[in-house]
Amino acid sequence: PLTADTPMSRYWSAVVHGLTPYVPGEQPKLDNLVKLNTNEHPYGPSPRALEAIRAATGEALRLYPDPNAEALKAALARRHGLQPQQIFVGNGSDEVLAHAFMALLKHERPLWFPDITYSFYPVYCGLYGVAHRAVPLAEDFSIRTGDYLPQGDTRAGAIIFPNPNAPTGRALALAEVERIIAANPEAVVLVDEAYVDFGGESAIALVDKYPNLLVVHTFSKSRSLAGLRVGFAAGHTGLIEALERVKNSFNSYPLDRLAIAGAVASVEDEEHFRESCRKVVSARETLVAQLGGLGFEVLPSAANFIFARHPARDGAELAAELRKRAIIVRHFKAPRIDQFLRITVGTDAQCAILVDALEEIL
Ligand code: PMP
Repeated sequence: PLTADTPMSRYWSAVVHGLTPYVPGEQPKLDNLVKLNTNEHPYGPSPRALEAIRAATGEALRLYPDPNAEALKAALARRHGLQPQQIFVGNGSDEVLAHAFMALLKHERPLWFPDITYSFYPVYCGLYGVAHRAVPLAEDFSIRTGDYLPQGDTRAGAIIFPNPNAPTGRALALAEVERIIAANPEAVVLVDEAYVDFGGESAIALVDKYPNLLVVHTFSKSRSLAGLRVGFAAGHTGLIEALERVKNSFNSYPLDRLAIAGAVASVEDEEHFRESCRKVVSARETLVAQLGGLGFEVLPSAANFIFARHPARDGAELAAELRKRAIIVRHFKAPRIDQFLRITVGTDAQCAILVDALEEIL
């Protein structure tokens, strides 16, 4: 029916067919693979979080969850020295980001973000009709702060970037992030800190100082709860209120009972959080040194993954060779980065299997 020339079919082809959907990293069903392609945490979540999820699995599931997820907002507020009204929660940080695109990032002037960055940003721009401008990274793949400062009438309507950036892993110092926020008081600056707990400096420390700052975090990486789907934003109450309005027009319950219970217990288990992140950082440093020894050029990483290329071997070919050996890493067929592999830091044992395989391939 949509092939006929009707207003509906014209809308459909112009809007929906025009979208370039985000292609998520591969999620294979086999568990005998060494899966280093979607930046999950190699060690499991806090045992206290698992226990809290089990305890929440009972007859109470017949009841709706708390529409405000107050217990989680309170726990996050305590953890980050904020008020609960400065916290917005959602079903994974992708959903939090989607709400920010709808509520905060759409202006007459374009949204600016790095030209090599999280591939969901241009997708959301297409979906929500947000004009955007991709700002090239420097030669060394770092974000150039100066490019985000207003020059005359050239200024951003809003700005979004991950810190550390994805898929490069490079982090911007907090003082540089602050320069961008301070220079753009009219623009919402969204800092996506999905990977910050592995060595970045969080801009949550600046939330009380700048009403135009929104910081987004996820439980999928440093808290090892990608399967639970929890993310949050911290910012000025005005920004949070805008997000809540959009959310309430969209659905009534951001998080289910199991997610709230597990996320609260995870936030309260600071020791497990710190220790499991420390193990990943230490494995990352070992892996960086080993890949360097094999001749790889490795970008400095403050994340739980590394971005590396080999001067003598094609990136796609290396990824294919690893795949034959049941190891999956991420390869992007995009300009400038198609020679790189993005490799999630796995357990020590997984990293050793990867390094052995690379030695054999090279
Ligand atoms: N931001 C960045 C930069 C990411 O890499 C990811 C994970 N792919 C996300 C946000 C979304 O993570 P989640 O929806 O699992 O919280």
